[in-house]
Amino acid sequence: MRKYDVVVIGAGPAGLFCALHASLPGQGILLLEKNANPGAKLLLSGSGQCNITHSGDIRDFLSHYGDHGKQVKPALFGFTNQDLIEFFRTRGLAMMTEENGKVFPETRRSEDVLSLILRECKERGVDLHCGEPATGVIRTAGGFEIITPKESYFSPMIVLSTGGVSYPKTGSTGDGYRISASLGQPLTEIAPALTPLLIRNYPFAALSGMSFERMQFSVWRSGKKIADHTGDVLFTHLGLSGPGILDVSRYILPADTITLSFVGNLKRDEFVADLTRRIDENRNWQISTILAAYPIPERLNRKLLNLSGIPDDLKCNHFSAEQRSRLVTSCTQFPLTVEAPGGFSVAMVTRGGVALDGVNLKTMESKSIPNLYFAGEVLDIDGDTGGYNLQAAFSTGFLAAQSIRLKRENI
Ligand SMILES: Cc1cc2nc3c(=O)[nH]c(=O)nc-3n(C[C@H](O)[C@H](O)[C@H](O)COP(=O)(O)OP(=O)(O)OC[C@H]3O[C@@H](n4cnc5c(N)ncnc54)[C@H](O)[C@@H]3O)c2cc1C
Repeated sequence: MRKYDVVVIGAGPAGLFCALHASLPGQGILLLEKNANPGAKLLLSGSGQCNITHSGDIRDFLSHYGDHGKQVKPALFGFTNQDLIEFFRTRGLAMMTEENGKVFPETRRSEDVLSLILRECKERGVDLHCGEPATGVIRTAGGFEIITPKESYFSPMIVLSTGGVSYPKTGSTGDGYRISASLGQPLTEIAPALTPLLIRNYPFAALSGMSFERMQFSVWRSGKKIADHTGDVLFTHLGLSGPGILDVSRYILPADTITLSFVGNLKRDEFVADLTRRIDENRNWQISTILAAYPIPERLNRKLLNLSGIPDDLKCNHFSAEQRSRLVTSCTQFPLTVEAPGGFSVAMVTRGGVALDGVNLKTMESKSIPNLYFAGEVLDIDGDTGGYNLQAAFSTGFLAAQSIRLKRENI
């Protein structure tokens, strides 16, 4: 059985970053990757451009992980967004920040992020074995036996960084949960997060691809409004997506209603007053021309009239009060019923996983199984869009590595 000082299972951003930072001169680090190549999801991230982190104050990050911001705090504060940006800058890959705070490599290529990390892993002597999945882990005297289809390894310390179960074609298929469960590590329920919403009787399929910046929308459950949101929204073939929708998808349930406002910042009353004034001043105009004054794209303009039962050549002087009321509702509170949040195949991250109360979050070590560490999305951590998930993967990977180094230096 081959021996290593540390075995890291899963070469996504969390595992790669952990392996390279865990290495000490003269010590063997094995990084096992199931796919033929590492970092498949990292390459897809940010549509191939890699939104690596966010530029905000690190304290503001804490509100971007649902209820788990506090738990991720030690990792985030121990290796911040600025540390991450600096890590890449000092190795020749500068970052740029968009107006909305999202940080990308200046080259806008996720390959550049991955190849820099791989180069660094190589320089630090990490032994990367691709196409070699860990199929089981057994606790043995003084450590762990890691079984793969090719070989068995012994290591006193292991890190599970196998990701979640979303986008399974990238290699994350829940192996980390099975290995954790076999070792007796507690897990929580899992669900898709950052996922598009499938809409019942969806009327906007023909407008798929149309997007809206900073749209105001509300979520209703059993007839009661439960939240107001503002965010970018995208019409898809089957429903709604875009960062604003993805970020709220973690709490949306089937049969919830989403009401969309197509009139920018105007409240319903303000829109009614403004619309009425424009109609009164232009009695010979068509209603569609009046609607063009609002941030409603031409094709949507026609569609909203059509869905409100209003002929698209109707003139203002024939516009009834009832038609006006229907149109106002369509423009300010267009209701869409959620069939279901999209499944794991389309979710960008997994909610749930290795339970945080079973892990010492100041070291990333299991509370019940000494020398078993976790990093990245295998943990019950999921962030908003905007770079929060990659930052969590890098920060938890770094923290696990730092704890391992500290322990090994003291052996
Ligand atoms: C389409 C898409 C776009 C995204 N864009 C962004 C973005 O722009 N910004 C952002 O912050 N986040 C983004 N995310 C989320 C982000 O990519 C993930 O949160 C992040 O990759 C998680 O890192 P990880 O290392 O924990 O897991 P993963 O990246 O999933 O890596 C886990 C690795 O473990 C390997 N593995 C699994 N099982 C085994 C096994 N048994 N043995 C060996 N290896 C195994 C897998 O093959 C995989 O390579 C995006 C996600 C998707 C799907």
